[in-house]
Amino acid sequence: MNYAQRFLIKPGSKVKLSNIDPHFKDAHVSKKDALKLIELNKLRLRALQELLYAEHKRSLLICLQAIDTGGKDGIIRHVISAMNPQGCNVASFKPPTSLEHDHDFLWRAHRDMPIKGNVTVFNRSHYEDVLVVRIHDLVPKSVWSKRYEQINEMEKYFSANDTHIVKFFLHISKDEQLKRFKERLDDPSKHWKISESDYTDRAQWDNYRKEFEDMLSKCSTEHAPWYVIPANHKWFRDLAVSQILVEYMEGLHMDFPEPSVNIGHIVKTYYVAKK
Ligand code: AMP
Ligand code: MG
Repeated sequence: MNYAQRFLIKPGSKVKLSNIDPHFKDAHVSKKDALKLIELNKLRLRALQELLYAEHKRSLLICLQAIDTGGKDGIIRHVISAMNPQGCNVASFKPPTSLEHDHDFLWRAHRDMPIKGNVTVFNRSHYEDVLVVRIHDLVPKSVWSKRYEQINEMEKYFSANDTHIVKFFLHISKDEQLKRFKERLDDPSKHWKISESDYTDRAQWDNYRKEFEDMLSKCSTEHAPWYVIPANHKWFRDLAVSQILVEYMEGLHMDFPEPSVNIGHIVKTYYVAKK
């Protein structure tokens, strides 16, 4: 199955999350096989990232969005960890600091964009400014409603300046979220992850749904596509994301740069001549 084609939100299409099964998995791949495939994808990702780093011409931004427990941290731990930390970093979007708050809402996204040769993962992203701000009424409609277009413009600008952008929405069901909250409660080493807002936000499930649908419908573009990944099965989520990333990076047709030295001369001078 071609996961990129299957999970891509086609630009301009209207998304209904109730039409996408969060429990979906590939009937042709067992969990055991998936775990092996994920390892292979990780090896390929590492090699592709090295090429990106060596080439030093462009960068890759990966945005992760999901409801609490959706698996953003899991993707970073299980998939992105394949990459060499030398050329990869993660920016986590928390409530804005006072400095961030005093800037325009896209300032911190711009600040944390990857430099040439690097990969940056946004764990949550500038999309929080059309998600959480709507839920908690942090800015008026006249302000947030303009932001989809502003985000599209910003992403277009970056992609025209050699930052490739791929966005994943990790799609879980309401039952699955409760199950994952419960697992956190049952495991004292995970208690630190629990926050009051997890439960207050859960009460807003349907409102979040509508906002995610708006975000996906309005901001999946040719230059910065959204993929909706069925994420109830963690192994399937990791398989689909790793596969899409590998294919995406292979599609960049990167090459190692020409050496900056004359290799023939180096060999002749330092090896052949020494014999
Ligand atoms: P976590 O990802 O669990 O560490 O939580 C980060 C929290 O920061 C979430 O509750 C987000 O909704 C919140 N957050 C992120 N960006 C913003 C923003 N622009 N305005 C308000 N809250 C935000
Ligand atoms: Mg949280």
